[in-house]
Amino acid sequence: ADNALHKAKNKGGNQALFFESEMGIAAEQYFQIERELRKGIDQGELQLYLQSQVDANGKVMGAEALVRWLHPERGLVPPAMFIPVAEDTDLIADIDKWVFEQVCLLLASAAMCERSLRIAVNISPRHFRRSNFVNWIKSTIAKTGVDAGKLTLEITEGLLVDSVSDAIAKMSELTALGIHFSIDDFGTGYSSLSYLKRLPIHELKIDKVFVQDAPANTEDAALVETILAVAKHLRLRVVAEGVETQAQADFLNERAVVTHQGYLYSKPEPAGRWLENQLLS
Ligand code: C2E
Ligand code: MG
Ligand code: MG
Ligand code: MG
Repeated sequence: ADNALHKAKNKGGNQALFFESEMGIAAEQYFQIERELRKGIDQGELQLYLQSQVDANGKVMGAEALVRWLHPERGLVPPAMFIPVAEDTDLIADIDKWVFEQVCLLLASAAMCERSLRIAVNISPRHFRRSNFVNWIKSTIAKTGVDAGKLTLEITEGLLVDSVSDAIAKMSELTALGIHFSIDDFGTGYSSLSYLKRLPIHELKIDKVFVQDAPANTEDAALVETILAVAKHLRLRVVAEGVETQAQADFLNERAVVTHQGYLYSKPEPAGRWLENQLLS
Protein backbone atom coordinates (compact mmCIF):
# COMPACT_ATOMS: atom_id res chain seq x y z
CA ALA A 1 0.00 0.00 0.00
CA ASP A 2 2.92 2.32 0.69
CA ASN A 3 4.04 1.85 -2.85
CA ALA A 4 0.59 2.51 -4.21
CA LEU A 5 0.27 5.61 -2.06
CA HIS A 6 3.58 6.79 -3.35
CA LYS A 7 2.58 6.19 -6.95
CA ALA A 8 -0.76 7.89 -6.41
CA LYS A 9 1.02 10.87 -4.95
CA ASN A 10 3.41 11.09 -7.87
CA LYS A 11 0.62 10.93 -10.40
CA GLY A 12 -0.88 14.03 -8.88
CA GLY A 13 -4.25 15.31 -10.02
CA ASN A 14 -7.22 13.43 -8.74
CA GLN A 15 -5.07 10.64 -7.38
CA ALA A 16 -3.67 13.04 -4.83
CA LEU A 17 -7.11 13.31 -3.26
CA PHE A 18 -6.93 9.67 -2.30
CA PHE A 19 -3.49 10.12 -0.85
CA GLU A 20 -4.59 13.00 1.31
CA SER A 21 -7.70 11.15 2.42
CA GLU A 22 -5.48 8.61 4.12
CA MET A 23 -3.91 11.40 6.09
CA GLY A 24 -7.21 12.87 7.21
CA ILE A 25 -8.79 14.86 4.45
CA ALA A 26 -11.20 17.69 4.03
CA ALA A 27 -14.80 16.54 4.16
CA GLU A 28 -15.27 17.57 0.53
CA GLN A 29 -12.71 15.09 -0.75
CA TYR A 30 -13.83 12.40 1.64
CA PHE A 31 -17.38 12.65 0.35
CA GLN A 32 -16.10 12.53 -3.21
CA ILE A 33 -14.51 9.15 -2.53
CA GLU A 34 -17.68 7.97 -0.82
CA ARG A 35 -19.81 9.13 -3.75
CA GLU A 36 -17.58 7.56 -6.37
CA LEU A 37 -17.28 4.34 -4.40
CA ARG A 38 -21.04 4.03 -4.02
CA LYS A 39 -21.43 4.49 -7.77
CA GLY A 40 -18.49 2.19 -8.49
CA ILE A 41 -19.96 -0.64 -6.44
CA ASP A 42 -23.26 -0.29 -8.34
CA GLN A 43 -21.45 -0.27 -11.67
CA GLY A 44 -19.46 -3.39 -10.99
CA GLU A 45 -16.07 -1.78 -10.44
CA LEU A 46 -15.01 -4.07 -7.57
CA GLN A 47 -12.50 -6.79 -8.42
CA LEU A 48 -11.75 -9.98 -6.54
CA TYR A 49 -8.07 -10.65 -5.92
CA LEU A 50 -6.66 -13.72 -4.22
CA GLN A 51 -3.32 -14.21 -2.49
CA SER A 52 -2.13 -17.77 -1.89
CA GLN A 53 -1.45 -19.16 1.55
CA VAL A 54 1.20 -21.89 1.48
CA ASP A 55 2.52 -24.57 3.82
CA ALA A 56 6.16 -24.97 4.89
CA ASN A 57 6.95 -26.69 1.56
CA GLY A 58 5.38 -23.94 -0.50
CA LYS A 59 2.29 -26.00 -1.35
CA VAL A 60 -0.82 -23.85 -1.83
CA MET A 61 -3.37 -24.55 0.89
CA GLY A 62 -5.77 -21.78 -0.05
CA ALA A 63 -5.93 -18.02 -0.34
CA GLU A 64 -7.09 -14.78 1.19
CA ALA A 65 -9.64 -12.73 -0.74
CA LEU A 66 -8.61 -9.10 -1.10
CA VAL A 67 -10.82 -6.55 -2.79
CA ARG A 68 -9.67 -4.02 -5.39
CA TRP A 69 -11.53 -1.12 -6.96
CA LEU A 70 -11.04 -0.65 -10.68
CA HIS A 71 -11.91 3.01 -11.10
CA PRO A 72 -12.57 4.10 -14.71
CA GLU A 73 -10.09 7.01 -14.48
CA ARG A 74 -7.92 6.31 -11.48
CA GLY A 75 -7.22 2.70 -12.37
CA LEU A 76 -6.73 0.03 -9.73
CA VAL A 77 -7.31 1.54 -6.29
CA PRO A 78 -5.84 -0.39 -3.35
CA PRO A 79 -7.90 -1.00 -0.19
CA ALA A 80 -5.91 1.47 1.91
CA MET A 81 -7.39 4.21 -0.26
CA PHE A 82 -11.06 3.32 0.14
CA ILE A 83 -11.65 0.75 2.90
CA PRO A 84 -11.27 3.40 5.65
CA VAL A 85 -13.94 5.55 3.95
CA ALA A 86 -16.17 2.51 3.40
CA GLU A 87 -15.78 1.53 7.06
CA ASP A 88 -17.31 4.83 8.16
CA THR A 89 -20.44 4.08 6.14
CA ASP A 90 -22.59 1.12 5.24
CA LEU A 91 -20.58 0.70 2.06
CA ILE A 92 -18.22 -1.67 3.86
CA ALA A 93 -21.05 -4.19 4.26
CA ASP A 94 -21.78 -3.97 0.53
CA ILE A 95 -18.11 -4.61 -0.22
CA ASP A 96 -17.80 -7.50 2.24
CA LYS A 97 -20.97 -9.07 0.91
CA TRP A 98 -19.84 -8.78 -2.69
CA VAL A 99 -16.49 -10.38 -1.88
CA PHE A 100 -18.06 -13.16 0.20
CA GLU A 101 -20.54 -14.00 -2.54
CA GLN A 102 -17.83 -14.06 -5.23
CA VAL A 103 -15.74 -16.37 -3.06
CA CYS A 104 -18.70 -18.70 -2.47
CA LEU A 105 -19.41 -18.83 -6.22
CA LEU A 106 -15.76 -19.56 -6.96
CA LEU A 107 -15.50 -22.31 -4.35
CA ALA A 108 -18.74 -23.87 -5.57
CA SER A 109 -17.67 -23.76 -9.24
CA ALA A 110 -16.94 -26.98 -11.10
CA ALA A 111 -13.23 -26.10 -11.22
CA MET A 112 -12.91 -25.66 -7.47
CA CYS A 113 -15.50 -27.83 -5.74
CA GLU A 114 -13.41 -31.02 -5.93
CA ARG A 115 -10.34 -29.33 -4.46
CA SER A 116 -9.65 -28.94 -0.78
CA LEU A 117 -8.53 -25.32 -1.00
CA ARG A 118 -9.80 -22.93 1.64
CA ILE A 119 -10.46 -19.22 1.09
CA ALA A 120 -10.41 -16.56 3.80
CA VAL A 121 -12.65 -13.50 3.57
CA ASN A 122 -12.18 -10.28 5.56
CA ILE A 123 -15.22 -9.26 7.57
CA SER A 124 -15.35 -5.73 8.92
CA PRO A 125 -16.67 -5.17 12.45
CA ARG A 126 -19.46 -2.99 11.13
CA HIS A 127 -20.74 -5.77 8.90
CA PHE A 128 -20.32 -8.44 11.58
CA ARG A 129 -22.27 -6.40 14.14
CA ARG A 130 -25.36 -6.17 11.94
CA SER A 131 -28.25 -8.13 13.37
CA ASN A 132 -28.82 -10.03 10.11
CA PHE A 133 -25.14 -10.93 9.58
CA VAL A 134 -25.49 -14.62 10.44
CA ASN A 135 -28.65 -15.05 8.40
CA TRP A 136 -27.12 -13.34 5.42
CA ILE A 137 -24.07 -15.62 5.51
CA LYS A 138 -26.27 -18.68 5.88
CA SER A 139 -28.53 -17.73 2.99
CA THR A 140 -25.57 -16.95 0.73
CA ILE A 141 -24.08 -20.35 1.51
CA ALA A 142 -27.39 -22.02 0.72
CA LYS A 143 -27.90 -20.00 -2.45
CA THR A 144 -24.44 -20.69 -3.87
CA GLY A 145 -24.19 -24.28 -2.68
CA VAL A 146 -20.68 -23.75 -1.36
CA ASP A 147 -19.14 -26.21 1.11
CA ALA A 148 -19.03 -24.01 4.24
CA GLY A 149 -16.07 -26.04 5.48
CA LYS A 150 -13.89 -24.29 2.88
CA LEU A 151 -14.59 -20.82 4.23
CA THR A 152 -12.61 -18.85 6.79
CA LEU A 153 -13.83 -15.51 8.07
CA GLU A 154 -11.11 -13.09 9.17
CA ILE A 155 -12.18 -10.80 11.96
CA THR A 156 -10.15 -8.31 13.94
CA GLU A 157 -9.72 -7.77 17.63
CA GLY A 158 -11.58 -4.46 17.32
CA LEU A 159 -14.79 -6.36 16.83
CA LEU A 160 -14.52 -7.89 20.26
CA VAL A 161 -14.17 -4.80 22.39
CA ASP A 162 -17.82 -3.99 22.89
CA SER A 163 -19.79 -7.20 23.02
CA VAL A 164 -17.88 -10.43 23.37
CA SER A 165 -20.94 -12.52 24.16
CA ASP A 166 -22.78 -11.33 21.05
CA ALA A 167 -19.69 -12.10 18.97
CA ILE A 168 -19.38 -15.57 20.49
CA ALA A 169 -23.04 -16.32 19.80
CA LYS A 170 -22.73 -15.32 16.15
CA MET A 171 -19.45 -17.12 15.65
CA SER A 172 -20.78 -20.31 17.24
CA GLU A 173 -23.74 -20.37 14.92
CA LEU A 174 -21.42 -20.19 11.93
CA THR A 175 -18.73 -22.57 13.18
CA ALA A 176 -21.52 -25.11 13.59
CA LEU A 177 -21.81 -25.02 9.79
CA GLY A 178 -18.09 -25.72 9.40
CA ILE A 179 -16.91 -22.13 8.89
CA HIS A 180 -13.55 -21.29 10.46
CA PHE A 181 -12.69 -18.01 12.18
CA SER A 182 -9.31 -16.32 12.12
CA ILE A 183 -8.14 -13.31 14.12
CA ASP A 184 -6.51 -10.99 11.60
CA ASP A 185 -3.64 -8.62 12.39
CA PHE A 186 -3.25 -10.41 15.70
CA GLY A 187 -1.14 -8.51 18.16
CA THR A 188 -1.97 -5.03 16.89
CA GLY A 189 -5.29 -4.68 18.74
CA TYR A 190 -6.37 -4.91 22.31
CA SER A 191 -7.44 -8.52 22.75
CA SER A 192 -7.32 -9.80 26.19
CA LEU A 193 -5.97 -13.31 26.43
CA SER A 194 -8.75 -14.23 28.83
CA TYR A 195 -11.50 -13.97 26.25
CA LEU A 196 -9.39 -15.31 23.41
CA LYS A 197 -9.85 -18.73 24.95
CA ARG A 198 -13.63 -18.30 25.00
CA LEU A 199 -13.88 -17.54 21.32
CA PRO A 200 -14.72 -20.29 18.84
CA ILE A 201 -11.72 -19.53 16.61
CA HIS A 202 -9.39 -21.75 14.63
CA GLU A 203 -6.52 -19.50 13.65
CA LEU A 204 -4.42 -16.46 14.48
CA LYS A 205 -2.82 -14.34 11.76
CA ILE A 206 0.39 -12.69 12.83
CA ASP A 207 0.44 -9.16 11.51
CA LYS A 208 3.07 -8.32 8.94
CA VAL A 209 4.62 -5.62 11.12
CA PHE A 210 5.93 -8.37 13.43
CA VAL A 211 6.83 -10.81 10.66
CA GLN A 212 8.85 -8.31 8.70
CA ASP A 213 11.21 -7.26 11.48
CA ALA A 214 11.28 -10.50 13.43
CA PRO A 215 14.55 -11.98 12.17
CA ALA A 216 16.55 -8.88 13.13
CA ASN A 217 14.50 -7.14 15.79
CA THR A 218 14.56 -9.06 19.08
CA GLU A 219 11.39 -7.41 20.37
CA ASP A 220 9.40 -8.43 17.29
CA ALA A 221 10.94 -11.90 17.46
CA ALA A 222 9.80 -12.18 21.09
CA LEU A 223 6.30 -11.08 20.10
CA VAL A 224 6.10 -13.70 17.37
CA GLU A 225 7.23 -16.34 19.85
CA THR A 226 4.64 -15.18 22.36
CA ILE A 227 1.88 -15.40 19.75
CA LEU A 228 3.06 -18.91 18.85
CA ALA A 229 2.99 -19.95 22.49
CA VAL A 230 -0.56 -18.63 22.90
CA ALA A 231 -1.65 -20.40 19.71
CA LYS A 232 -0.10 -23.66 20.85
CA HIS A 233 -1.86 -23.55 24.21
CA LEU A 234 -5.18 -22.76 22.60
CA ARG A 235 -4.55 -25.26 19.77
CA LEU A 236 -4.93 -22.69 17.02
CA ARG A 237 -3.38 -22.64 13.56
CA VAL A 238 -1.06 -19.74 12.84
CA VAL A 239 -0.75 -17.87 9.56
CA ALA A 240 2.10 -15.42 9.11
CA GLU A 241 1.23 -12.51 6.85
CA GLY A 242 3.65 -10.35 4.86
CA VAL A 243 6.45 -12.91 4.42
CA GLU A 244 8.76 -11.23 1.92
CA THR A 245 12.19 -12.73 2.44
CA GLN A 246 13.73 -16.16 2.85
CA ALA A 247 15.18 -15.00 6.19
CA GLN A 248 11.66 -14.30 7.45
CA ALA A 249 10.42 -17.66 6.15
CA ASP A 250 13.32 -19.48 7.82
CA PHE A 251 12.70 -17.69 11.10
CA LEU A 252 9.05 -18.79 10.99
CA ASN A 253 9.77 -22.35 9.88
CA GLU A 254 12.25 -22.82 12.74
CA ARG A 255 9.40 -21.89 15.05
CA ALA A 256 6.85 -24.09 13.31
CA VAL A 257 4.53 -21.51 11.82
CA VAL A 258 2.77 -23.75 9.35
CA THR A 259 1.09 -21.35 6.99
CA HIS A 260 2.75 -18.44 5.22
CA GLN A 261 1.31 -15.65 3.10
CA GLY A 262 3.44 -13.03 1.41
CA TYR A 263 5.21 -11.64 -1.61
CA LEU A 264 7.96 -14.27 -1.23
CA TYR A 265 5.41 -16.81 -2.52
CA SER A 266 2.96 -14.69 -4.48
CA LYS A 267 1.24 -11.34 -4.61
CA PRO A 268 -2.53 -10.92 -4.63
CA GLU A 269 -3.68 -11.65 -8.20
CA PRO A 270 -6.99 -11.46 -10.06
CA ALA A 271 -9.16 -14.40 -9.01
CA GLY A 272 -9.32 -15.76 -12.56
CA ARG A 273 -5.56 -15.91 -12.86
CA TRP A 274 -5.17 -17.42 -9.38
CA LEU A 275 -7.66 -20.14 -10.36
CA GLU A 276 -5.81 -20.89 -13.62
CA ASN A 277 -2.58 -21.30 -11.66
CA GLN A 278 -4.24 -23.77 -9.30
CA LEU A 279 -5.62 -25.78 -12.20
CA LEU A 280 -2.18 -25.98 -13.83
CA SER A 281 -0.47 -27.23 -10.69
P1 C2E B 1 -5.26 -7.68 5.66
O1 C2E B 1 -6.55 -8.40 5.73
O2 C2E B 1 -4.36 -7.75 6.83
O3 C2E B 1 -4.57 -8.24 4.32
C1 C2E B 1 -3.20 -8.44 4.19
C2 C2E B 1 -2.58 -7.29 3.43
O4 C2E B 1 -1.16 -7.50 3.36
C3 C2E B 1 -3.05 -7.17 1.98
O5 C2E B 1 -3.07 -5.79 1.65
C4 C2E B 1 -1.94 -7.88 1.22
O6 C2E B 1 -1.86 -7.47 -0.13
C5 C2E B 1 -0.75 -7.41 2.01
N1 C2E B 1 0.41 -8.29 1.84
C6 C2E B 1 0.43 -9.62 1.67
N2 C2E B 1 1.68 -10.09 1.59
C7 C2E B 1 2.49 -9.03 1.72
C8 C2E B 1 3.92 -8.86 1.71
O7 C2E B 1 4.69 -9.80 1.59
N3 C2E B 1 4.38 -7.60 1.89
C9 C2E B 1 3.55 -6.53 2.05
N4 C2E B 1 4.10 -5.33 2.20
N5 C2E B 1 2.20 -6.65 2.05
C10 C2E B 1 1.69 -7.88 1.89
P2 C2E B 1 -4.22 -5.15 0.80
O8 C2E B 1 -4.71 -6.11 -0.24
O9 C2E B 1 -3.76 -3.81 0.36
O10 C2E B 1 -5.39 -4.97 1.86
C11 C2E B 1 -5.22 -4.12 2.96
C12 C2E B 1 -6.30 -4.30 3.97
O11 C2E B 1 -7.56 -3.91 3.44
C13 C2E B 1 -6.50 -5.75 4.39
O12 C2E B 1 -5.51 -6.11 5.34
C14 C2E B 1 -7.88 -5.68 4.98
O13 C2E B 1 -7.85 -5.15 6.29
C15 C2E B 1 -8.55 -4.68 4.06
N6 C2E B 1 -9.33 -5.43 3.04
C16 C2E B 1 -8.96 -5.93 1.86
N7 C2E B 1 -10.00 -6.55 1.25
C17 C2E B 1 -11.06 -6.43 2.09
C18 C2E B 1 -12.44 -6.85 2.04
O14 C2E B 1 -12.92 -7.52 1.11
N8 C2E B 1 -13.21 -6.53 3.12
C19 C2E B 1 -12.72 -5.84 4.20
N9 C2E B 1 -13.55 -5.57 5.22
N10 C2E B 1 -11.45 -5.44 4.27
C20 C2E B 1 -10.62 -5.72 3.24
MG1 MG C 1 -7.05 -10.24 6.22
MG1 MG D 1 -4.04 -9.36 8.04
MG1 MG E 1 -2.65 -6.67 8.17
